Amino acid sequence: MSKEKFGVNTICTHVGEIKDEQFKGAVSPIYLSTSYEFDNVDVKRYPRYFNTPNQTHLSKKIAALEHTETAMIFASGMAAISTMLLAFLKQGDHIVVQNTLYGGTSNFIREEFPKYGIEFTFTNGYEVAHFEDAIQSNTKVIYIETPSNPLLTITNIKNIADLTKSKGLVSMIDNTFASPINQNPADFGIDLIIHSATKYLGGHSDILAGAVAGSHIHMERIWNVAKNLGGSLSDMTVWMLERSMKTLALRVKAQNKNAQKLAEFLDKHSDVANVFYPGLKSHPEHELAKTQMRGFGGMLSFELNDGIDAMTFQKHLKLIKSSMSLAGVESTMLLPSRTSHALLSQNERDQIGISDRLIRFSVGIETFKDLKADIKQAIKTTKS
Ligand SMILES: *Cc1c(COP(=O)(O)O)cnc(C)c1O
Repeated sequence: MSKEKFGVNTICTHVGEIKDEQFKGAVSPIYLSTSYEFDNVDVKRYPRYFNTPNQTHLSKKIAALEHTETAMIFASGMAAISTMLLAFLKQGDHIVVQNTLYGGTSNFIREEFPKYGIEFTFTNGYEVAHFEDAIQSNTKVIYIETPSNPLLTITNIKNIADLTKSKGLVSMIDNTFASPINQNPADFGIDLIIHSATKYLGGHSDILAGAVAGSHIHMERIWNVAKNLGGSLSDMTVWMLERSMKTLALRVKAQNKNAQKLAEFLDKHSDVANVFYPGLKSHPEHELAKTQMRGFGGMLSFELNDGIDAMTFQKHLKLIKSSMSLAGVESTMLLPSRTSHALLSQNERDQIGISDRLIRFSVGIETFKDLKADIKQAIKTTKS
């Protein structure tokens, strides 16, 4: 069975299943053993070696979806990111990082790298020139995130991959917001792709997990560090993630569709000042997004007009939950100034364009008209 022949829904459903030879059940069995025979075996299996049957099989599904040779599953998105970065950076090395970055990644770099003597530069923007300007003689890695959180800026993936190759560096992308359904950075030449599987891959707000996908050579380097750091995922959760991923393409496509319609609805609404969504023609990188994304994703953000308090608006929502995290089948909203970016000063937030009225919207799979009605009534009640 060559996985290349399969469409995306078939990959989600079937690639990497474990055949239940003993009882002929329809779904993969869970192997919870932490102890495996050591003699007469091809592989010495142990959960912290990332090579239990459930771990290795689910990795095949992720690699097939990301168009890479192989993949690894981690205990969280941050376990994946930290292990990957430490596998490619040592004392005296330097990394160029996109300035608009997931808060946890940014904290990891700022708080931990000085302890290891690893140097870093956060770019001043997301144009390729911003990255090129930041490269030093000891630079080893370029790290990007597109679409970014929470303003949904789009970085040119191919240009970054080309730049990285021309300088002999390693390129890494956080592909969490797009998911492999909407964007495959490996097709543009990016070396390593990470996911917080807590988000779209899990999709039901009940699993904490992460993944890295890439070539055998790059992944071997990560494995060598991963077995020492120990951030592997329990097989119980690996199995839950496999189950969730069977509907990944269905969910993400439904979220793309809802988000596009909601972005257009908000864009036209007279009480809405700004909408940030790569699927809108008014988005500054809409044309670029079309060249590297198959769908524009389920994340958008917006600002209500001055005088309509964002916090009060949130309190009046009945269907859409005010909650942290993102990418579940349920719609959620939050205020980045009060959550993900609360630790920054007002001045720092202003610099990266995160106003107090900015609302981040993780669009779920509910019926569009119900989401629209909820937003309408919440705006109306807030104004009255
Ligand atoms: C949530 C998130 C992470 C971190 O993942 P965890 O599973 O919470 O460790 C990394 N990048 C992005 C874009 C995220 O949204």
